[in-house]
Amino acid sequence: MAHTEVNKGIKDTEMDRLDQARIALAEYFWTKVSDIGTKGCWMWKGRTGRGGYGYFTYGPKTYRAHRLSWLITRGEIPEDIFVCHRCDVPACVNPDHLFLGTYYDR
Ligand SMILES: [Zn+2]
Repeated sequence: MAHTEVNKGIKDTEMDRLDQARIALAEYFWTKVSDIGTKGCWMWKGRTGRGGYGYFTYGPKTYRAHRLSWLITRGEIPEDIFVCHRCDVPACVNPDHLFLGTYYDR
C-alpha cells in the first residue's frame, strides 16, 4: 500500500473524499466476515487463495483480507512488514489475532 506517497500534497477536500472511500470500503469489508469461529476467530467468508488466506476485491484492487483488516482497524502497515496471525488461522481477520512481524516472525 502506498497511501503515504499518494496522500502527499492532497488538499483537504480530497482527503475527505479519501476518508469517505475508506469508510465505504470498511463497511463492505465487514459484510464479508462470517460468524466467530473457534478461538474467537472472525472467519472470512469471501474468496480464499493460496495458504487459505482471505482475498477481498474492491474496485480494481485485490487485498489480502487480514492485511486489510489491519489497515482498517489499526492503520498503515510499514513496508516489508507482514501481518501475522497469533491464532494460526489464515482466514481469520480478527484484528486482535493479528500482529505485525518480519519475515522471521511468521
Ligand atoms: Zn483468529
